[in-house]
Amino acid sequence: MRFVRRIHRLRTLGLGVGFLCVATTMAGLDASPALWVLLLLNGYAWPHLACQWALRSRSPFAAEYRNLLIDIGLAGFWVVAMRGNIMPSTVIIAMMCMNNIASGGVRLFLYGLVSALAGMLAGAALLGVRLAPQTSIAEALSCLPLLFLYTLVLGKSTYDIAKKLARQSREFEAISQRDGLTGLYNRRHFESLLKQVLDDCRRGGHGASLLLLDLDFFKHINDTHGHQVGDTVLRNFSRLLENHLRQEDIIARYGGEEFVIIINRVDEAGALALTRRIVERVRALQTVDNTLWGCTVSAGLVPYAAHLDDDYDWVRRADHAMYQSKNAGRNRLTLGR
Ligand code: GH3
Ligand code: MG
Ligand code: MG
Repeated sequence: MRFVRRIHRLRTLGLGVGFLCVATTMAGLDASPALWVLLLLNGYAWPHLACQWALRSRSPFAAEYRNLLIDIGLAGFWVVAMRGNIMPSTVIIAMMCMNNIASGGVRLFLYGLVSALAGMLAGAALLGVRLAPQTSIAEALSCLPLLFLYTLVLGKSTYDIAKKLARQSREFEAISQRDGLTGLYNRRHFESLLKQVLDDCRRGGHGASLLLLDLDFFKHINDTHGHQVGDTVLRNFSRLLENHLRQEDIIARYGGEEFVIIINRVDEAGALALTRRIVERVRALQTVDNTLWGCTVSAGLVPYAAHLDDDYDWVRRADHAMYQSKNAGRNRLTLGR
């Protein structure tokens, strides 16, 4: 429907201004009143009729293609009615072709040529063929508004669409990297970032540690307070992580109530201190306020080391360290290798 409305605006302008160009040529010929009525209808009624027709059809998009073919078919008819007057004929057919190739690619352009030919044949059958190809100065001048105005507006409209598409594609990319509930990076994006960090570390760029966090007895919160409270805890925990970590750290939701963090550009002691602060802060929240509904967290921290096989190995080791925390009674941190 947006496509139909966009074409409606373009068609109203194009046919409105194109009327001038055809009417000036027709004025020099002994055109019948019926032909003038037809020209007026084509210039000023058809754009709105075409729009309503397309909007009311089952597939507005396909209907608009049909309308575009009718446009160029009618243009073919006017070429014969203008007795092949070279300048207005070329301009109106060229504008229609530009429109068709911009709207429906080469396919619509080619179908359009067939439609133009059909329009010419219909014109020849109804009006006969009489050629008067020479263009006067007045007729040439009457083509200029269509030539300049329409190309400018179509160019601007195409540019606007390209800009909007580029913006949407950036937005989609950003959304595809995020977890819907917490707004943190999702697992897929995290995995691609972890690969990059591992490569950086191997090149000797800087140190980094991988931290895996799992909320303790989280299922219990869902079971006793409901899923919505569970979701709130996950969101609150995400904000807590963001508040405790720095801009250069990468925080992601790895799965249900599991979170992974790349603590970037810090040595082992720094990463340990940071993780301790998080575990202690979560523990303290049990008595201070209720944002985590009494939840605690088990952590596994693995600093980068040359013996890591790959990024999966790094995650596996962090997971192993986290499970050691679980087995040792939860609510604690384990440093793994
Ligand atoms: P443990 O201390 O061993 O980690 O126990 P746990 O209960 O935290 O772990 P378990 O794996 O048994 O349960 C995790 C629960 O997390 C189960 C699942 O229903 C819940 N969960 C996963 N994703 C979401 C979510 O998006 N929202 C909510 N509310 N719950 C979720
Ligand atoms: Mg858990
Ligand atoms: Mg878990």
